[in-house]
Amino acid sequence: MIVWLRRDLRLSDNRAMAAALSLPDAVVYPYFVFSPKLLEKTSPVRSSYLAGVVRDLDGDLDGRLNLDWGDPVGSLVSFALEIGATKVYATKEFSPLGRTRDEAVGLKLRLNGIQFLLGDSPYLISPGKINRQSGGWYKVFTPYYRAALSHGFELPFDIRFDPNRFSNRVLFHRQAEAYLEGSDCFDRKRFPTKASFVLEAFSTFVEEKLSHYSIGRNSPSTENTSVVSPALRFGVVHPRQLAYLASGQEGGSDYIRELFWRDFYAQVLLNNPESAWKNLNEQFDQLVYDEIDEATTRSRLQAWKLGLTGYPIVDAGMRQLLATGWMHNRSRMITASFLIKDLHVPWQVGARYFMEHLIDGDLASNNHSWQWVAGSGTDAAPYFRIFNPVLQSKKFDPNGDYIKTWVKELAEIPSRFVHDPSEAKRLGLIGEASYPSPIVDHALERQITLERYEAMKVVT
Ligand code: FAD
Repeated sequence: MIVWLRRDLRLSDNRAMAAALSLPDAVVYPYFVFSPKLLEKTSPVRSSYLAGVVRDLDGDLDGRLNLDWGDPVGSLVSFALEIGATKVYATKEFSPLGRTRDEAVGLKLRLNGIQFLLGDSPYLISPGKINRQSGGWYKVFTPYYRAALSHGFELPFDIRFDPNRFSNRVLFHRQAEAYLEGSDCFDRKRFPTKASFVLEAFSTFVEEKLSHYSIGRNSPSTENTSVVSPALRFGVVHPRQLAYLASGQEGGSDYIRELFWRDFYAQVLLNNPESAWKNLNEQFDQLVYDEIDEATTRSRLQAWKLGLTGYPIVDAGMRQLLATGWMHNRSRMITASFLIKDLHVPWQVGARYFMEHLIDGDLASNNHSWQWVAGSGTDAAPYFRIFNPVLQSKKFDPNGDYIKTWVKELAEIPSRFVHDPSEAKRLGLIGEASYPSPIVDHALERQITLERYEAMKVVT
């Protein structure tokens, strides 16, 4: 039989593996297939991270991971037939693409007399399990979270499978081999790909930072979050393992609450697959945005992408994204708000750009977070909440440490000028051309946004 690994690329607390290995005398082949079509759509940093994860998983399996390349449906079924498998085990997928693919795989396997057994999920509680008492899914986070807490989640398995329990490798597709040999384009220290390193880093986070997480998590310069999102994206660790290590510790419940945001967005996407790219609140279809093809908007959008807006906190976030593939949550909110509410660009444009660059890019979390900022989502920020980039900067990066890390032009100026460098320019502390002037006037754009939101309310 086969364990088909997808978003559960680990040996510990892997329930698909457990199910396959539970049968007496089971001959189990772990299998992973790279889909070139999917890789094409994945950001370079994310696919490089995935290659690192697969390489390390294969190492953990003592080189027993069967590695394939091609369309997953055809490739998996051919492999199953080749080795005479009667069963394929996998962790259940909940994204629209994953579900469609699994339906096709299941059908083809069944036609060949092979069972396809799906179980567990990459979440604390499988999407679809928590529903309102009155019926239907939760559209607002807080009641969802309360219901999830009273439902409870399982503890992780305290076992890590012995690689010797798996059969020796019989397949190593040469393109998969070549792909794995490519060089990394991400910081391995910051984003470890090996499960034991991720868990080790997480334990250090619990020991040293969890107690002040609830406040510290808002400050982009203090490195006070777990930075575990890339590992969660590919299942190098299961959130159960993290919740278990965090629970009972000071700050633990705040941390687990954040993990539930990930669950929450997955259940929104499951129940409403169109919400990945369409406004959840249809009223927002009426909202007027600037014409994206118009030269001014195009050049402003380009400035946002490159971190050249003249608003240091926005530029720091965008440059962190370009340099590392990751951005702090506070900066994600600020940069997203700036694109939507200061530049009047539809949230979908920003969501797509983030997906093209994030190492942890995840359709459910990313696109629904963008909708949250736009105000069009389920649990949306009120439309009139428009982040002021200078005030956000002063509040969450008071000494300008984050800005100075990513906006090198401002590294040497006194911190009091760093949030709004116009004064530093006037005093000659930096040259006029060394850092861009603000591409828009926030106060003015805020007013335009409010008027457009008001008009939208009138139209509908
Ligand atoms: P921690 O603060 O240590 O949190 C632990 C984990 O909880 C995270 O790894 C994540 O899995 C989950 N989590 C925390 N906050 C959120 C949240 N608001 N929504 C969903 N899950 C959360 N997260 C992604 O994993 N992938 C994305 O593509 C993504 N895109 C985002 C886009 C925007 C515009 C915004 C505002 C947020 C986005 N997030 C995304 C959520 C959040 O920013 C990241 O999960 C977080 O910054 C990851 O860093 P961390 O692991 O250090 O987080």
